[in-house]
Amino acid sequence: MTEQKLVWIEEEVKALKESGLFINLRTIDSPPGAWMTVDGKRVLNLCTNNYLGLADDARLKDAAKAAIDRFGAGPTAVRSIAGTLSLHKELERAMAEFKRVEDALYVQAGFVANQAAIPPLVGKEDVIFSDRLNHASIIDGARLSRAKIIVYEHCDPADLEAKVKENLPQYRRGLVVTDGVFSMDGDVAPLDKIYAVAEKYGLITMVDDAHGEGVLGHGGRGIVDHFGLHGKFDVEIGTFSKAFGVVGGIVAGKKLIVDFLRQKARPFLFSSAVTPADTAACLAAVQMLTASTDLVEQLWENTKYFKGQMKGLGFDVGNSVTPITPVMLGDAKLAQAFSRQLFEEGVFAMAIGFPTVPQGLARIRVMVSAALSKDDMNFGLEKFAKVGKALNVIA
Ligand SMILES: *Cc1c(COP(=O)(O)O)cnc(C)c1O
Repeated sequence: MTEQKLVWIEEEVKALKESGLFINLRTIDSPPGAWMTVDGKRVLNLCTNNYLGLADDARLKDAAKAAIDRFGAGPTAVRSIAGTLSLHKELERAMAEFKRVEDALYVQAGFVANQAAIPPLVGKEDVIFSDRLNHASIIDGARLSRAKIIVYEHCDPADLEAKVKENLPQYRRGLVVTDGVFSMDGDVAPLDKIYAVAEKYGLITMVDDAHGEGVLGHGGRGIVDHFGLHGKFDVEIGTFSKAFGVVGGIVAGKKLIVDFLRQKARPFLFSSAVTPADTAACLAAVQMLTASTDLVEQLWENTKYFKGQMKGLGFDVGNSVTPITPVMLGDAKLAQAFSRQLFEEGVFAMAIGFPTVPQGLARIRVMVSAALSKDDMNFGLEKFAKVGKALNVIA
């Protein structure tokens, strides 16, 4: 019998199950390559963020193993006390060069990077202008700062400007923050126009490039490179857990700010440093992307093919302009059923529902990867067509 004080949890879980929003965890038993072992079954991977196939690359794995031998398994200290390895500094330098910014700070995750970067820059007397569809980690970082949060309409610089004009005078200073690539829809923020508004009103500028790094810009240098806005965005948040194939977050930008974060960012001061193995693998990934644009080009070629074919089959793939391919289904239960049937057919593509996306906009999100061969993609397309017809999503 559940204790009386905890009965409400059972009720909430029941409601989640009834509305098709309960998250069923699948268990992985292989690297996240083109094919992977999920719940004991070999399936085509259309689901992970391994955009460039780096997660299983020998160079990353060798670098990780060598780092364990040289530095041990864990640093056992926060960066600010005894946890800053030469490897961390090397990675920060390599990443700053790759992104053509002055400096960069490596933290434990992209999620954490937003918590590291936002609270030191704005506080109770300040205001944050935030895109309506910003990632949860931006929202949480903004909340931690205790600044006033004003939401502007999605990718709408005119609405941003109207809200800045009306509200900024009541506050000490303002910050504008947006996802670069929106992770659930695959659309891209109009960064040049957002920058123009920010410059006009003197706002601090921040963009979260988690799905842009390794994807957009020259050789995957990210959204700022894509728009040619080098030196204009004060802070770029990034992650090593997607295209770079490892784990960790990055705060890149002006040296003045990054150095300030080394004094103030709480995840840097109060949570232990990233392991040598992870750091070395990240460094190997940055070095590979610095040396060659081949993987990024393959990613875009695959993206063009897969999305074109999906549209041809009659699927609604939303407004994506990136490898993120939302297959819009609307109803959360339909999305779950679609994902289950795909899995039975040997394709791994998860359903995504509320609260990750708004109510009524449930979808299957396909992540295209450079690791997929043409045959792999054709296999996936054939199964999408079969399940789509069986569930009356396409004719
Ligand atoms: C995935 C994502 C994050 C979180 O990155 P992790 O390294 O997985 O913690 C942060 N911001 C955005 C926009 C993301 O898409």
